[in-house]
Amino acid sequence: MSYKRVAAVTGANKGVGLGIVRNLALSYPSSHLNDGPFLIYLTARDSSRGEEAIRTLLSDAHLKKAKALSQDGGLTDIKFHPLDISSSESIQAFAGFVKQQHPEGIDILINNAGVAMDGFNMDVVSTTLRCNYWGTLEMTERFLPMLKQGGRLVNVSSIAGVLKKYSESREKEFRAANSVPEMTRIMERFIKGVEAGTHEQDGFPSAAYAVSKAGLTGVTQIIGREEATKGRGVLVNACCPGWVNTDMTKGRGTKTIDQGAKTPVMLALGDIGGKSGLYWRDEKVQQW
Ligand code: NDP
Repeated sequence: MSYKRVAAVTGANKGVGLGIVRNLALSYPSSHLNDGPFLIYLTARDSSRGEEAIRTLLSDAHLKKAKALSQDGGLTDIKFHPLDISSSESIQAFAGFVKQQHPEGIDILINNAGVAMDGFNMDVVSTTLRCNYWGTLEMTERFLPMLKQGGRLVNVSSIAGVLKKYSESREKEFRAANSVPEMTRIMERFIKGVEAGTHEQDGFPSAAYAVSKAGLTGVTQIIGREEATKGRGVLVNACCPGWVNTDMTKGRGTKTIDQGAKTPVMLALGDIGGKSGLYWRDEKVQQW
């Protein structure tokens, strides 16, 4: 089968990521990118959870009714591929596979995978930043050159990453960062501060998830602005899915996973007026 469009979604075995795959399949037929068969790589760090998610989608009554999947006469195929974004080897393996299967490039990458851990200590800080900041950044940098002209890259960040909880000077530093190394230095400074017990004096909150997502929103905006100058029409944006009922929110979120998928799917398939390097929530551009 030759596919006209190819997408990949990280952390897609459950929660918002699963909702994103489902809604990419449902929205693709009416999207302006639709010009033929569509393939979505549902990726997950655990193969059995990923394969199970594929089975769930293949028997999804709503997808069947909408005739979204090729097995029911629709346009979309969904395939599983293992991917742990906290592992450079795993990222390299997936990138190598995609390059070999799709030498012409792919159209969409949605970096959804993320962790929110209880507590605040060095282990929580390094695991959270490794996944949410460095893992997502590594995916972004590795896959950006593999996106076709007009491609889309969406990083699922969070409202927790808006710059409300920082000292004035730290907030200024976040806003002034204008390159990937500058944003990464802020993340390293946070880690060093936590190690030394001085991060609060240094203007950071005791909140690994919030800092990781602040860095992710910031670095995505930087990369999206840089990309806009290259004339490839590739749009790179960050977003918050809203407060979604998933394992991460321990059932407290108020949105369904389909509602949580709306903004990321719009950024991947919708006509967003060529906007790149912005942070979105509720399908609108928001202040970081
Ligand atoms: P869940 O905890 O329900 O799902 C997270 C997904 O990410 C799981 O599939 C998980 O896999 C995967 N994952 C975690 N670490 C890795 C890794 N190293 N490599 C690959 N996959 C990984 O969370 P949500 O669905 O709620 O969150 C999805 C995204 O949305 C996250 O980035 C989150 O920060 C963001 N978000 C969510 C909000 C909400 O209200 N739910 C609000 C704001 C932002 P596994 O099953 O193996 O653990």
